[in-house]
Amino acid sequence: MDFKPYIRVIPDFPVPGIRFKDITTLLNNGEVYRAAIDELKERVKDWEIDIVAGPEARGFVIGAPLALALGVGFVPIRKSGKLPGETVEAGYDLEYGKDTLAVHKDAIKPGQRVLIADDLLATGGTIATTIKLIEQLGGEIVGASFLIELSYLDGRDKLKGARVESLVQY
Ligand code: IMP
Repeated sequence: MDFKPYIRVIPDFPVPGIRFKDITTLLNNGEVYRAAIDELKERVKDWEIDIVAGPEARGFVIGAPLALALGVGFVPIRKSGKLPGETVEAGYDLEYGKDTLAVHKDAIKPGQRVLIADDLLATGGTIATTIKLIEQLGGEIVGASFLIELSYLDGRDKLKGARVESLVQY
């Protein structure tokens, strides 16, 4: 299935010069949303995944249903200050801005095979930071799944050789 027609491109959001890929139009269509999750699942189902991790907020929208489809748990990676338990944290630069991500220290057990999921791979900063957090907890990164990959930003190069699957490329 071609998912690109269901993604809306909005110019100059959130800052001038960014052509924002808006997935709310895809999420709005139940059949297409399900088809996207099914397709992501098909591509990774043989990777022996123990758990899926996804960064706030759109990583939850992809990662949580993907985890359910795979029959494994989900780990929310959150912005600093949101998680109530003990966390590890790491800062990073975004395509437009700066942020700090956090994960509960007990969310991943050493040796667990972790799939990362997010809506979009741009520069790879978000996912590189997510990888850093998971590795600090002793998790093993098996790969990363995205709805969208902005190939011209070469985000894959930051993911330390992890397998990458994306449904739509720009
Ligand atoms: P990266 O860290 O540069 O790879 O940026 C990826 C993160 O920024 C993801 O969590 C996305 O949700 C968000 N992001 C960056 N550009 C876009 C976009 O065009 N549409 C939707 N999300 C975006």
